[in-house]
Amino acid sequence: MPQGESGEEVKRPGRKVCSASTLSLVNEASNTLRATSFIHVNLDAVVHNVRILKGLAGPKTEILGVVKGGAYGSGMMPVVKVLLEEGVKELCVATVSEGVYLRQHNITVPITVLGNLVECEVEDVKRHHLIPSLSWTQPFTSYDKENLVYPVKLFIDLIGMSRYGVQPQDLSDLIHSLDQLEVTIFSLYTHFQSGITEREKNKRQLDLFLEATEPYLSRPLTRHAAATTGCVQGLGTDLDFIRPGGAITGLSSGNDFQDVDEFQQCTFRPAMSVVAKPSFHKLLPPGRGIGYNSTYETQQSEWIANLTTGWSDGIARHLSNNGAVRSIKTGELCPIVGTVSMDSITVRLSGAPDPDDGYLVISDDFHNTTSAVGLARRLKASVYEIPGNCSTRLPRVYSRGGKITHIFPSLSYTC
Ligand SMILES: *Cc1c(COP(=O)(O)O)cnc(C)c1O
Repeated sequence: MPQGESGEEVKRPGRKVCSASTLSLVNEASNTLRATSFIHVNLDAVVHNVRILKGLAGPKTEILGVVKGGAYGSGMMPVVKVLLEEGVKELCVATVSEGVYLRQHNITVPITVLGNLVECEVEDVKRHHLIPSLSWTQPFTSYDKENLVYPVKLFIDLIGMSRYGVQPQDLSDLIHSLDQLEVTIFSLYTHFQSGITEREKNKRQLDLFLEATEPYLSRPLTRHAAATTGCVQGLGTDLDFIRPGGAITGLSSGNDFQDVDEFQQCTFRPAMSVVAKPSFHKLLPPGRGIGYNSTYETQQSEWIANLTTGWSDGIARHLSNNGAVRSIKTGELCPIVGTVSMDSITVRLSGAPDPDDGYLVISDDFHNTTSAVGLARRLKASVYEIPGNCSTRLPRVYSRGGKITHIFPSLSYTC
């Protein structure tokens, strides 16, 4: 993506490891929450990312903000609020219940449900004015015709993922059936199958989509294709909408180095981090086993600290003796030693912990070890899974302009 005139890579500014403002915010949050570990979501990063997305989109292209999965773990309502403030006019979710949740929280903008509509959902979809996606007429056929006039989106599965979607050769039949049922078609969309580095494959899919949908352009419907990957690739970004999710909270759609490099070059910024301050620490003599099954043994006299967050909060057990947390003050990496347990992890420090310091368990950057992309690589996971798996037991802190705006104590946050 952004390249210099001569095609050379644009140098990105390095990130400071120590940020006094981050540290004071972390300490304030910890005192206010009276908790040592929590999720921090920096809403400034969300604002920044939405503006970057606007810049990647064509001049007449609007944003459909995808906020499924609790806005990819960063929190649905706080992220939606920023999106609406930034002029995003429509939202997408994956399930009808997510759409109902938004309606119950007084969100009135159009909401598209990206999953495939099934019959038992039609009632809720109608009551809450959600726009369902459809690949076949089945959900409607048993329905009272009078009640049917309803906008739908068609998901076109052009050489796509074979998950949802109508095959291109079946499109005209489906549209014909919907016309018979007097169902309004709101838009036609596709979702790219391939990753950031596979631009040619996605380009082929886009071309097929444009060709298959061309005959319907005289109708008042919109077309869209680009999610995060398409936005980074510049594919389909000049259609009626772009449809990004991950990029809104600065999450790359791929985790290999080249994917992340191209994503980073767009200057997206991850919004979410998990921060912890030690709840206990001690200097152990050599030969002490740490944690369940003693999977780590001290080699010498070692400082070991407990952080109160474990796999029940979403910190993968596979990080046992296989990951590290990072000091906010010094940037020092402290290895996770012993087994990640349900409620805590143990880390090896180079000295007694500084009471003013905090540790990033998931960092809001692209760090090879501690960030969502780094963890995804290590865990062979999707980048989206890393924040998406954090449970509601971790308290949450939202900030803007370096100031805390919202606090959700443990278990009080719903979505
Ligand atoms: C999840 C999803 C998106 C958003 O994808 P990102 O990679 O998060 O930007 C867009 N469209 C569909 C159909 C989806 O399922």
